[in-house]
Amino acid sequence: MRKLALVGRPNVGKSTLFNRLVGRRSAIVADDPGTTRDRREGAGRLADLEFTVVDTAGWEEAKGAALEARMRRQTEQAVKDADAVLFLIDARAGVTPLDKSFAQWLRAHARKTVTVANKCEGRDGVAGVAEAFGLGLGEPVPLSAEHGLGLADLRDALAPLIIGVAAAGDADEPDPHAAPVEVPEGEDADWEGGPEEPPDRPLQLAIVGRPNVGKSTLLNRLLGEDRVLTGPEAGITRDAIAVDWRFDGRRIRLIDTAGLRRRANVFERLETLSARDTLEAVRFAEVVVLAIDAGQMLEKQDLAIARMVVDEGRALVIAVNKIDALSRGDAKAQAASWRKLRDRLQASLAQVKGVPIVGLSAQSGRGVDKLMPAVMKIHALWNRRIPTAAFNRWLAAMVERNPPPLVDGRRIRIRYGAQVKTRPPTFALFVSKPAALPESYTRYLVNGLRDDFDLPGVPIRVVMRKPK
Ligand code: GDP
Ligand code: GDP
Repeated sequence: MRKLALVGRPNVGKSTLFNRLVGRRSAIVADDPGTTRDRREGAGRLADLEFTVVDTAGWEEAKGAALEARMRRQTEQAVKDADAVLFLIDARAGVTPLDKSFAQWLRAHARKTVTVANKCEGRDGVAGVAEAFGLGLGEPVPLSAEHGLGLADLRDALAPLIIGVAAAGDADEPDPHAAPVEVPEGEDADWEGGPEEPPDRPLQLAIVGRPNVGKSTLLNRLLGEDRVLTGPEAGITRDAIAVDWRFDGRRIRLIDTAGLRRRANVFERLETLSARDTLEAVRFAEVVVLAIDAGQMLEKQDLAIARMVVDEGRALVIAVNKIDALSRGDAKAQAASWRKLRDRLQASLAQVKGVPIVGLSAQSGRGVDKLMPAVMKIHALWNRRIPTAAFNRWLAAMVERNPPPLVDGRRIRIRYGAQVKTRPPTFALFVSKPAALPESYTRYLVNGLRDDFDLPGVPIRVVMRKPK
């Protein structure tokens, strides 16, 4: 069994993550530093990965020179024994001097480290990710241990270290000598256009929508007969079911809750997809297909789900189902109502300009063949990485064309930036007065990014930081 050590200064959320991985409350979690005194071990799971997880003590008791000694004794052993190390920082607090010295120590002593920027729920958290990037331990994984967000990304970052190869779940034998995932800094030629992930990692897909829009029908249509019900996945939700299938040679894993459950067990009472189910499915998905009913007015609830998908940073595809119902009018009326619906959707989802909208009939099968190509395309964009050099050339041009405003007679300066994360593309910009930069300027940059780097329809996040 591979061993995973959780390390980091006190209060970054190690125990909380431990509990989440182990799945029961076997470590004490509390606000006062010093609660986590012992090393705790438990059997951990994250989706398909299984490992022993070790929660190390913080260094809070040590003072001055004793700190070094303590750190080495308590953490060194855990790190030495571990096949993989999760180094946690508190993204809300940003990188502290203690984090820095910890990182320095880990760079020298631990080979397989994944940096986790915890407490990343909501917007504030993402900010610390940029700083975590600067720790020199590769691309940080934004996470919220408390809210269970980012677990899919954590799984992906861990898979090469736990399984030994990058392809998810496909390794027969773990390879103890697998190299850690590393994000090259500075020279990023290899990343340009290159695949961000091995091709056989399943694409995690969810189909959500209001009751009766045709989710189950669409599912049947997509899966045909070669579906494989793989049952509840650990780390997903107890009630969720994953279905694996292939499309165009690519593994697809469908995360479904109520919709599939209904199919899986005929004796189960008919359920509607609750808001909680939807959120759960969205959080575990990479791409979310929101099914809506062409014959019905676009409802608040449809837009609310779409916004939730975008807020969660997932790639969104809208499937307008039952277009056969639209066909009852003449061709002109039909085209007009289709345009109206599309425009309304695009206008309501301005944050993801160009979101793919596929009209289809799950019942007749018409247009269904367009859905999966749209899913694959948006997934690729969602995984896009823009090289730092190209990004900064672009940024300089944007700033020159339209400089940021003056504040108190001094111009806000945008110095440089970098893409700190994919899935969704997230950029950090170093700005002299981050708080003073108007929202409209951020929009100008986001729209520019979308157009110039061809990122239609994916959520794009931009985080402003003050240079240190
Ligand atoms: P440890 O000392 O590193 O083991 O940290 P704990 O797991 O005890 O967490 C310290 C504090 O941070 C607790 O109050 C947790 O509830 C809180 N915490 C942990 N994870 C998160 C998170 O993802 N978001 C937020 N906002 N708080 C968290
Ligand atoms: P779910 O609740 O979202 O899973 O919806 P279902 O798949 O159970 O479908 C709800 C109803 O819509 C059923 O009566 C389906 O037969 C019907 N339906 C599904 N797809 C289509 C379609 O493309 N056209 C029409 N006219 N009806 C459809």
